[in-house]
Order: sequence, then structure tokens, then C-alpha cells
Amino acid sequence: MEFRDLKKQYQVLKKDIDFAVERVMSDCNFISGSQVQELEKELAEYVGVKHCISCANGTDALQMMMMAWGVTEGDAVFVPDFTFFSTGEVVAFEGATPVFVDVCRDTFNMDPKSLEAAILAVEKEGQLKLKAVIPVDLFGLPYDADEINAIAHKHGLLVLEDGAQGFGGVYKGRRACTLGDAATTSFFPAKPLGCYGDGGAIFTNDDETAAYLKSIRVHGKGTMKYDNIRLGMNSRLDTIQAAILQVKFKAFKEYELDDVNKVASWYSEKLAGTFEIPVVPEGFVSSWAQYTIKVSNRDELQASLKAKGIPSMVYYPKPMHKQLAFSGIKQYVDLSATEELCQTVLSLPMDPYKSNDIINLITSLLQVYAK
Ligand SMILES: *Cc1c(COP(=O)(O)O)cnc(C)c1O
Repeated sequence: MEFRDLKKQYQVLKKDIDFAVERVMSDCNFISGSQVQELEKELAEYVGVKHCISCANGTDALQMMMMAWGVTEGDAVFVPDFTFFSTGEVVAFEGATPVFVDVCRDTFNMDPKSLEAAILAVEKEGQLKLKAVIPVDLFGLPYDADEINAIAHKHGLLVLEDGAQGFGGVYKGRRACTLGDAATTSFFPAKPLGCYGDGGAIFTNDDETAAYLKSIRVHGKGTMKYDNIRLGMNSRLDTIQAAILQVKFKAFKEYELDDVNKVASWYSEKLAGTFEIPVVPEGFVSSWAQYTIKVSNRDELQASLKAKGIPSMVYYPKPMHKQLAFSGIKQYVDLSATEELCQTVLSLPMDPYKSNDIINLITSLLQVYAK
């Protein structure tokens, strides 16, 4: 069994994907082909923002926003302690200080109370400038935007939504990737909307930010590529990836997002009462990057599933504040919910192409080992 069945997805979309890729190869417009701009327009329209700026991957997308906002040494940027490494990495890479914030046990997302406590602790210490917050839409569930944004804006912080796992989700009628002052996503193959390699995008309503991002993704270009007005990077989305994404995005909108929600509801119906299942609060729609339960006997469960050919994954086994790369970075608040989650989370096979029979098989095996 595949944990995320990209092979099955390819079989379903093969004709259209092959056609789209062959067109790029026969046109030889590998860099900045028209498909890239078309895709950006489609994505911006779908989420409901003015600008989508595609780039090479989700980490670059975050980093480019750090550059756009001038994040630098002496700045505090608040990030969840329970997330993929990139969210904190880009902050430290700019010389700023990531301040780790605890998450809510039930949603896995940034805890507004912990954010406020961390902001007050940093403020009281008086060493760092309050700069930005990067809430994450973890496992596909949008972050609690009203709560987090209100606290951030009250303290003069910018909000960058890390929607790498959240693309397609909905929060109170608004799409993920529109919930902060700017947002980023990733098209890494296993994300809700993935390409066939690396890819990413940034979403913003601000014209000036959009123009800056378009410049720095091509070496800080001015009026053209050989006019360089600032230092930038080389961070473009390949035309082949854009062409593949156009096909996959159509399927995502037409049925994949609905189908993955159906799979999640099958899991939840069968596991509710026996296991701690993921919570989707009223007014939220998840794009189900992961379906994650919490168990006390994780090693035993994972081994039993594996023996039956069922893969499972642990996202994430280590809190950010315990990563060696972040050693020496101060802890401002209690991070015990994250510590607990790192010991108990288990993500189950998940994608829009799983059948009810497959979910029945997985859940009936899990029941045997329920504690
Ligand atoms: C995957 C991911 C990223 C980074 O995306 P890449 O495209 O792999 O660089 C950033 N943040 C989160 C939360 C992610 O899951």
C-alpha cells in the first residue's frame, strides 16, 4: 500500500499530464513559459488574492517573504514549535531569532495563548524587535486566523501564513493562503497540491511586494534580466512543473479535495470513540495533507501496521526547539503540548484515491491494537 498514492493519481491523469509535458518539450520553453503565468493567475483566482508569485519551492517562498519584509538580525519571528523545519529555518537564515510557540493539542496549530505569552516575554526582555508571526496550516487545517491575527496586529507584528500543507483549506468562508498579510505554499509532490519535483508559491494583495518578489526570484532584476537592481536569488518554477500543476489543479478543484475529505470522514467514523482523531473545528475545512491520530503505544502500533504492509509516518518526532541546528536559541514559553505530540502523533495513509475498503482494512487492524 502507498502512504500517499501518487502512482494511482498519475494513472488517472496520465493522458493529460503526458500531453502537457510533451508540449513543453516540443516548445522548449523550459524557463518562464506561458504555463507559469497561466498557473499563477488560476491559483490567485482560486484562493482569492491579487497576486500569486510562483517560485522554486516552499522554503524559498518563505525566505523570499522574509526578504520582502526586511527580516534581519535583532528581529523576533514567532513560529510554532510543532512544524516542518523550514518554518523556523528561514528566520534564522536571515539572522533573525525564531521564537518557538506552543500549539493546541487538538488542532496541532499555533496556540493563541502561547503566542501572546511569547510576545509578552520577548517584549519584557527588551532585546528583540517584534517583527512577524508565521502560523502554519498543519496537516491541512487552516490556522485560527481571527485569534492569531488579532494578537499579532495588536502588537504590530506582520503575519505570514505558511500554507505549505494547507492549500485548498477553508477558514470561515475564506481559502487558506489568504489568511495572513501574505502566504506561501509548497508543491512538493506529497503536499495537497503537488508537482513532479520541487515548486512553491507566494500569495499577496500588495502590488509593491509582488513586484519585489518578481525581481528577487530572478537575481534582483530591474527592467530586464541583465539589469540587476538588488541582490536576489534564482527561484523560478519550471515550465514543466507549471504544466503538470495545471492538470493536477483541475483535478484538485473538480474532485480531489472533496474526495480526500470523504476519506477523512470514513477514517473518523470508524475510529471515533476508540482513538483520538483529528479535530476540524466549526467553520474550518481541511485539505488533509495528513490524517493524524494520537496514540500512547505508537511504536507497537506502527510495527503491527507495517507487518501487514500498511505504511504510517511520524510527523514530527522532534520539536523545533530540540533541533541541533537551533541549539542556543532561547525558549520563552512552555512547549509541553508540542513535546507530547512529538511522542504520540501517527499519520495514516491518506490521499483522494483511497477506497472505503482500504480504510476499512486499516481501521479494523487499528482496532485490534487500540488502548
Ligand atoms: C513542506 C513544508 C515547507 C517547505 O516546502 P518545500 O517545498 O519542501 O521547500 C515549509 N513549511 C511546511 C509547514 C511544510 O510542510
